[in-house]
Amino acid sequence: MKKASLAAAFAASLSLSPVSLCQAAEGTPADEARVAEEQLLGSADEEARFLAYQPFTREIAASVVVSTSLDQALADSGVPAATLLEAMRAFTATVNLQRDIKPGDRLHVRYQQAFTAEGAPIGVGRVLWAELTLASRGPVAIHRFRTRDKVERLWFTNGLSATPAALRMPLDTISVSSGFGLRADPFDQPPPLAATGKSAPMGGPLRSKPLPPGLPTGGTSGNGGPVNMATPLGASLGLAPYGGFGKAAPKAKASRALFMHEGIDLVAPSGTPVYAAADGVVVGAAPNGRYGNWIRIEHGSKLATVYGHLMAFAPGIEPGESVVRGELIGFVGSTGRSTGAHLHFEVVDNGKPANPINHPELKAMQLRGLDMDRFRKQVARSLEERTRESKAASAGL
Ligand SMILES: [Zn+2]
Repeated sequence: MKKASLAAAFAASLSLSPVSLCQAAEGTPADEARVAEEQLLGSADEEARFLAYQPFTREIAASVVVSTSLDQALADSGVPAATLLEAMRAFTATVNLQRDIKPGDRLHVRYQQAFTAEGAPIGVGRVLWAELTLASRGPVAIHRFRTRDKVERLWFTNGLSATPAALRMPLDTISVSSGFGLRADPFDQPPPLAATGKSAPMGGPLRSKPLPPGLPTGGTSGNGGPVNMATPLGASLGLAPYGGFGKAAPKAKASRALFMHEGIDLVAPSGTPVYAAADGVVVGAAPNGRYGNWIRIEHGSKLATVYGHLMAFAPGIEPGESVVRGELIGFVGSTGRSTGAHLHFEVVDNGKPANPINHPELKAMQLRGLDMDRFRKQVARSLEERTRESKAASAGL
């Protein structure tokens, strides 16, 4: 909550700062566009003329020294406020912008901006990388990088994600009692072995009784004990490799009906506050069959979150209402098909259930392996580029 209000205060202070566009080291894109246009006047080369009117993208670098305040420095940088906001938000993951930044500290920002042929900016410029050099602790840098899984965000140079995750967990204390994936139905009774008509392999025969998709059975996993790493739960928590749903039956619970658990169950005492995972619009808040008291929130067109078994809804939580990340939406309960107080939590990504535990929008991500190797090279290239540019600038080129 603190972070959100800080960001809001920051956004407010930014919007008050007068910012001019494109005070780049080189001539402004507007100038260059005009020159190109003049050169083409009278030219018979229609294709070249056509190209001269096409939108174009430029990378722009700005360096600024803090002389009085961060706000002053941001305004002096000439970088559009909306562009800076993303970078400064990322820095707040590790830097206290109010306390840590002192006169003499430096900010370097490199961003990419699209322009019309006339040189008017199109949309919000994207920060490619930025570096704060603080007297108190040296440089802190963020770099935009896209992983092989196509997760594009800003990362610190140590490979830790600097962009706050889009989603937060709905409870302050997280204790997973049942994970995402194939699992036994805790309400289902094991079938008598005699009824199967043949001797069962270890753990008994598989009996499938699919439930309608998206319905939780609620309750804890029925294990009560520590997570069994050989189960889909263990696998879904990343504790053990699991051969896949189609290949092998989990032995421990094979005598029970198996179904796809499309969310995770978080144990918490009745009445524990449940918070919205992100800004969004409530599209459902009502008793809903097995889910019990159920809430669905849509976060833009791609992501939605679902909360089940609530004891009660928070005041004002109704379809059509907007919520902000971290807003109280209800209280943990055991309504619907549930064996004890817990929150059933689902993340729906592009219409498909996703495992909240390892969903990129919920995790503080860390680059590893090949991604980390590629990222290191990209960071090194960026620094070389900057050194070249500052040499060129000081040589008066
Ligand atoms: Zn559940």
